[in-house]
Amino acid sequence: MFYMISILVISIGVIISQPADTLSFVPPRNISDKFRNDLVAIDLASTDYGHIVQKKPAAVFYPTSTDDIRSLIQFANNNSSPLGIAARGHGHSVRGQCMTDNGVVVNMTNLINHKSGPGIFISQTPALGSYADVGGEQLWIDVLTQTLKRGLSPVSWTDYLYLSVGGTLSNAGIGGQTFRFGPQISNVFELDVITGKGDFVTCSKDKSPELFYAVLGGLGQFGIITRARIALQPALKRVKWIRMLYNDFSAISRDQERLISLNGRGEKDGVDYLEGLLLMRQGPLDVSSYPKSDQPKIVSLVTQYGIIYLLELAKYYDDSTRDSVDKELQVLVKGLSFVPGFYFAKDVEYIYFLNRVHYDELILRKQGLWDVPHPWLNIFLPKSRISDFDFGVFKNILLKESVTVGIVKFYPMNRNKWEDKMSCVIPDEDVFYTVALLYSTRIFDWEAYDAVNKQLLEFCEKNGIPVKQYLPYYETQRDWINHFGSKWTNFQEMKANFDPNKILSPGQRIFN
Ligand SMILES: Cc1cc2nc3c(=O)[nH]c(=O)nc-3n(C[C@H](O)[C@H](O)[C@H](O)COP(=O)(O)OP(=O)(O)OC[C@H]3O[C@@H](n4cnc5c(N)ncnc54)[C@H](O)[C@@H]3O)c2cc1C
Repeated sequence: MFYMISILVISIGVIISQPADTLSFVPPRNISDKFRNDLVAIDLASTDYGHIVQKKPAAVFYPTSTDDIRSLIQFANNNSSPLGIAARGHGHSVRGQCMTDNGVVVNMTNLINHKSGPGIFISQTPALGSYADVGGEQLWIDVLTQTLKRGLSPVSWTDYLYLSVGGTLSNAGIGGQTFRFGPQISNVFELDVITGKGDFVTCSKDKSPELFYAVLGGLGQFGIITRARIALQPALKRVKWIRMLYNDFSAISRDQERLISLNGRGEKDGVDYLEGLLLMRQGPLDVSSYPKSDQPKIVSLVTQYGIIYLLELAKYYDDSTRDSVDKELQVLVKGLSFVPGFYFAKDVEYIYFLNRVHYDELILRKQGLWDVPHPWLNIFLPKSRISDFDFGVFKNILLKESVTVGIVKFYPMNRNKWEDKMSCVIPDEDVFYTVALLYSTRIFDWEAYDAVNKQLLEFCEKNGIPVKQYLPYYETQRDWINHFGSKWTNFQEMKANFDPNKILSPGQRIFN
């Protein structure tokens, strides 16, 4: 009995030897022992964080070197009918993007445990300053802990750090620092990529730039990222973490836009992080992170207005700025139009701030609310239409129809921090917003939330609000063509150049 249990137990990225049953294809000898198709491996690769889509691969591949991935891709191209190959970073897609039906899922995190992988190496040159060479399989939390040991840190973050470097660079990697430093894809100097043809290519803005720009935000279509060279800067030690409540959308969006416009006028002028959230009467209204004495007045404000907007910002500091940071904050906050008395400040460690969502994860896991369906919708829209969106979606669709949403975020970003040559698609205005509807639902009601997503998209279409999906999911190729707009022709050409047999990331459903 113990033996039976022990061969079934897996820990993330570690295989506890379970040989593959007969495979439906004949792999080359040099990688034949890296496949598994037992129930445990297949089940794990048949789902993702979304818990909505299921796809069953023929096998899961556990590489121990980047050469293994290269051999796999070469083999997949030469198989009698080309095999779909889906890199799985940390499996935190929500619509099956890291899956494949009948193809091979590459368990990227298996590389973490093998010294032959690129790991995380920190270096410095006069031209680039400090940077980290990081395996595509690495999780951002590990990049943070390793770089902090040297007093350094990447500059641009996602809200949640248990995501792989390859997975976020295939999308964009956005968060509260994006307005200032651009998304994570704007902070990469160089990539190693194994293309869909099985070629190993080192690329950058100067070396094979077509591949470099195609892969950044390229939804895994052109190659598997095995190394990224990421910009670092000195890490500050602590964070002033501020939250302010607004009852007027035009006031919060005006303040958000003013704060992100300070960027570039001198380091000291601006904030380091800025986001926004909705608090809604119908809940779930979690005020546990506010001082106990303030909780009743927050609940009562939300109940009175039905919808309240939260502006969240952060300013980093260390010993040298300890005495001045509060003054700088006072200057920044002066003139902001939040509801008087609804200003809350915390002072936390830098690593705690960046890893804050993980602490929520631990609570949700305990409550059994983490591994549930997540019919998320993430969009970008131009600043000029954000107040129409507030009126039509926040106030009319979400509030009036009493959608008990999970978390809803909205914050502006500066377009000049993004490079147009990258595959990721963003609105055509200097400032644009992201809106993220991050529902956690029950197994039987996720479709109701998905219906709200559809209603939202229909509202935008009817009212001419040009929305682009982030972490996109579309039903048809026509939708993809609309999504990419003027970038579609190039995207198609890059696919023909780098993955002509269309084997990579079939779960995105762009070409398959
Ligand atoms: C709780 C949570 C919070 C999140 N917060 C944010 C956020 O704040 N900001 C943000 O931008 N995103 C956020 N995301 C979304 C997240 O960035 C994407 O879902 C990302 O793809 C997840 O990374 P992953 O390693 O799990 O990728 P996976 O789901 O494993 O893969 C995603 C896609 O990338 C491809 N891929 C994976 N690895 C590689 C590689 N090495 N090379 C090429 N292609 C590859 C896959 O084939 C797939 O198509 C969040 C997701 C979750 C679940």
